[in-house]
Amino acid sequence: MPRALVTGGAGFLGSHLCDRLLAEGFEVVAMDNLITGSTDNIAHLIDNPRFRFIKYDVTEYIYLDGPLDFVFHLASPASPADFTTKPIQISKVNSLGTHRALGVARAKNATFFLASTSEIYGDPLVHPQTEEYLGNVNCIGIRGVYDEAKRFAESMTMAYHRTHGINVKIVRIFNTYGPRMRLDDGRVVPNFIGQALRGEPITVYGDGSQTRSFCYCSDLIEGFYRLALSQETGPINIGNPTERTILEFAQEIKRLTNSRSEIVFKPLLTPDDPRQRRPDITKARTLLGWEPKVSLEEGLRQTIAYFQKRIEAGYRR
Ligand code: UDP
Repeated sequence: MPRALVTGGAGFLGSHLCDRLLAEGFEVVAMDNLITGSTDNIAHLIDNPRFRFIKYDVTEYIYLDGPLDFVFHLASPASPADFTTKPIQISKVNSLGTHRALGVARAKNATFFLASTSEIYGDPLVHPQTEEYLGNVNCIGIRGVYDEAKRFAESMTMAYHRTHGINVKIVRIFNTYGPRMRLDDGRVVPNFIGQALRGEPITVYGDGSQTRSFCYCSDLIEGFYRLALSQETGPINIGNPTERTILEFAQEIKRLTNSRSEIVFKPLLTPDDPRQRRPDITKARTLLGWEPKVSLEEGLRQTIAYFQKRIEAGYRR
């Protein structure tokens, strides 16, 4: 039975990855310090004998008994709202935490899988973004704690690959959404859906002309799994190229929730908010035979249903 460590295993994407690995017959160890992850996301797995959860900060030395075939390094706060409230934790988990996770992979001769991000392209001057684009990042800007640390993580991952010969895979994740995002996470999907469902104003930051391309979580996890089992190192973009302006996105959510909320404009949270973002997924298509399957409308309906239940049950997060 293959065995995997998932850092950030109680997070939004980490918990979906644990589900998928268990369904594929893996034994899974999830680690998470729960600063943004939640045991709610893995409560359904606790009785599974092939699943183990360890509350742990992966910036500390990682001890783990037994063999490992994969180390999936997903731990990191990822919302721009966290960039101002948890900047040091973000810098640390993506630098020191990546070093620890690489160390475990090396010690166990496991494949190391890095969850990198479209943020490494910064405020991109090339559109759509191909993996060859080197990016436009302000390393001392507010987003720099995340963008630059992820760039460092990619660089150290390649250093371990070249120096120690360990098998590595780098995925660059574009905006992903779905059930198990935190209602109060501050990102656009939970914000807009939460506001629309509660009848509160929908807060568009800036003039709403900036664009994003949203990928549903099950599509993303399928891309992860294909990359993990492939011969590819990457980096490979995984995302949905369906691009919308943020204003269009607000209108779409208002429509799908039948909400009477008004759309209001607020200042940008960070001055270096990327103006546009859309993945070029040629590599994922040709090398992994992957492309997204879930339409924006279908994915949003699933996500709205999830948040509706959370709100009705009285959760604020
Ligand atoms: N955004 C917004 N209103 C919100 C939250 C976010 O208009 O309540 C905008 C944000 O300025 C950005 C886009 O939506 O342009 C996506 O933001 P998110 O925080 O989801 O992630 P990002 O793609 O910026 O990392």
